[in-house]
Amino acid sequence: YQSTIMRSCHLPGETIDGYRVNVLANIELFEEVTSVLDHGGEGIGLYRTEYSYLNRNELPSENELFEEYWDLASIVAPERLVIRTLDLGGDKLSDLFGHLEEANPALGLRAIRFCRQYPYLFRTQLRAILRASVTGNVSIMFPMVSGLNELVELKRFVEGVKQELRRENIAYNPDTPIGIMVELPSAVMTADILAKEVDFFSIGTNDLIQYSLGIDRTNKYVSYLYQPLHPALLRSIKSVVDAGHQAGIEVSLCGEMASDPFCVPILMGMQVDNLSINPQSIPGIKRIIRNATMEECAYLLKQVINSSSVAKNNALVQDIIFKRF
Ligand code: PEP
Ligand code: MG
Repeated sequence: YQSTIMRSCHLPGETIDGYRVNVLANIELFEEVTSVLDHGGEGIGLYRTEYSYLNRNELPSENELFEEYWDLASIVAPERLVIRTLDLGGDKLSDLFGHLEEANPALGLRAIRFCRQYPYLFRTQLRAILRASVTGNVSIMFPMVSGLNELVELKRFVEGVKQELRRENIAYNPDTPIGIMVELPSAVMTADILAKEVDFFSIGTNDLIQYSLGIDRTNKYVSYLYQPLHPALLRSIKSVVDAGHQAGIEVSLCGEMASDPFCVPILMGMQVDNLSINPQSIPGIKRIIRNATMEECAYLLKQVINSSSVAKNNALVQDIIFKRF
């Protein structure tokens, strides 16, 4: 059985009635790229770059990062490599920056806020990404964007780095796509505005659940409230997909939810363009997609989106999915 799933994992993620849902990989380490290829990943939808900064005594150099990104992009070409800029802070702390006195790290100096505090760090990473973009399949993605002003400032920063490279006669792809993680409620609510400023969205449900439901994702005492099928979550995701599509951009989902067999048919019903998940989950999720029809996913979505409680949604989904998949 397992080998049948593995054998079909290199076929495209496409429903019986012809809807394409690309399945990409989330990785944290360069070495995982072999696993992405082995498991049929259609590119890398989320490269969590912070691991190059953890557990070491000095910052990685621009050249070191460049070579890493270039090699990775070359290996997965022509499929895409989405490089997420540093998401340090919160639960990922680097010894290189000393201890931050923060009462609520998840609400503090994290991700792009951290990079804004240390511009030289951000500049080095962006130079490395842009230099690697010459391969033609690299995208930049910003984590934890809270609103338009922040996004405009980020894009201006990227422009500055591009200018610098031009002055130095260093090549980069001027059309490198720029996208954002939609993982804060404020980004969900202004998705229509943000969509006009970026080339793609990727919904980060791990954080979106944390920040929407007000539960620390690392706190075991409240983990029972970590509910992907909460109506607030489903409505948020749906509105982001719709806002993205209205503006003509692709919408991906790269949280754990995208590898949950009970959630995938619902996300498909919302017409999410890409799912990005851990490599080992790709064959199983592709199998679900290839055995589904868009019609039944749309039906399932209609049932759960109109329901008022998590319990009801869990029951509905189990009922339909157990019977069908
Ligand atoms: C997310 O928040 O859903 C996500 C994919 O990013 P991370 O888990 O790295 O915060
Ligand atoms: Mg996140």
